[in-house]
Amino acid sequence: MTAPLIFIDLETTGTRATRDRITEIAALKVIDDQPVDGWSSLINPGIRVPANISQLTGINDDMLADAPYFEDIAESLREWLGDGHTLVAHNARFDYSFLRNAFKRTGNDYRAPIMCTLRLSRRLAPQEPQHNLKAILARHAIEQTRAHRAEDDVNALWALWKTWQARYSDEVWSYALAEELRHRTLPAHLDSRQLTDLPESPGVYFFYGHNRLPLYVGKSVNLRRRVLSHFQRDYQDNKAMRLAQQIHHIEWEETAGDLGAQLREAQLVKSLMPIMNRQLRKQRKLTTWYWPSQASQPALISGDVLTKPYDGALYGLFRSAKDAKDTLRTIAEENKLCPQVLGLTKGKGRCFASQLGKCLGACQGKETLPAHTQRAQEALAQLQIKAWPWPGRIIIQEGPSASGKRTWHVVDHWCYLGSADTLKKAQLLTQATLPAFDVDSYRILNRFLRTPEQHGLRVKAL
Ligand SMILES: [Zn+2]
Repeated sequence: MTAPLIFIDLETTGTRATRDRITEIAALKVIDDQPVDGWSSLINPGIRVPANISQLTGINDDMLADAPYFEDIAESLREWLGDGHTLVAHNARFDYSFLRNAFKRTGNDYRAPIMCTLRLSRRLAPQEPQHNLKAILARHAIEQTRAHRAEDDVNALWALWKTWQARYSDEVWSYALAEELRHRTLPAHLDSRQLTDLPESPGVYFFYGHNRLPLYVGKSVNLRRRVLSHFQRDYQDNKAMRLAQQIHHIEWEETAGDLGAQLREAQLVKSLMPIMNRQLRKQRKLTTWYWPSQASQPALISGDVLTKPYDGALYGLFRSAKDAKDTLRTIAEENKLCPQVLGLTKGKGRCFASQLGKCLGACQGKETLPAHTQRAQEALAQLQIKAWPWPGRIIIQEGPSASGKRTWHVVDHWCYLGSADTLKKAQLLTQATLPAFDVDSYRILNRFLRTPEQHGLRVKAL
């Protein structure tokens, strides 16, 4: 006797496994190619079913009002599913993650191997453009009574399974099953052959969706490990699951090391605007406090200040003028500096803060302006932006990496101009126009250039 297979289908209130809920479960237990037992139940989700979902499934709030809640059936379903029996479903990660999360909410840790018929179909018939259930059933002339009702979908899946078994030789069929189990954690639309060449070296990787839509750009010192890790945590994490559901294609670029990977990632996120990258997406305009030498207060400036020579000091990188002012205000309060002398409030003579004992009195001559300036600059010192320590452009050599890759990065005033795999090509980049100042590049470069040798970098000023 072979281990039972559980053909299963769920209907839900939406697509997010941690927020949406199951509305119907149907399953069919098959042992030695014989159906032995069925399970089918509507489930009261405890929340309203969105109208568009009702329209798709035909399941509405009225039908669910008297249905049991998941916790009511959890125990008997858990027993029925058994331990370690493979779940067979179309886009199995979807059903599996909903099931896992539903059990989790009732205090159960349910795990099972999964077999995805969508992936299996792509493996068996790679020439076919469509692998949604409706298209596959149509290709095999399998009749389906009501699409998107769990029991009908499960019966259709079982019919499809038998059709495949009859159609393909034992050898082809068992090879497809074995391969599918081996790659079962991979996204449904992704051809796993794309992953076989992924190197264990540093670099950036790209996830593309349908029609080459850029979904996500990431970086790592180990491309292979990082990319695969995306597909191993999607059962608990909505974002990872949405990503896994949408990936159709993966690409990558090797770099000589971590610096190249980080610079390239920041650059690509801004140029490709992948829909799942939030953090680095915006080309952030720099806002900073500029304190000119001899002045008694700083001025707020934004734009490409760091790429021009200046006389004085710059403090902080802020997203907005408001952030900059809030920060300076807090520092002033903590150090009993005068908000009026700093230009944060308007007025003449004794400031309001000093009446509250929160200003040492630079506004009324109790503290000299140079003394106040010195205290303020000391308080701000931790935020001071490093002046570019070289006369102009530099070339940073990175590598060789474990795989022998070397890269030359061209940088000027904390701006990244580009990289090349030979010094000669990099020298051509030194003629490029300076890009707009970018906060992310500044942060990356500042971190690496503090101790270049620790990162295996060699810096050459031009
Ligand atoms: Zn004051």
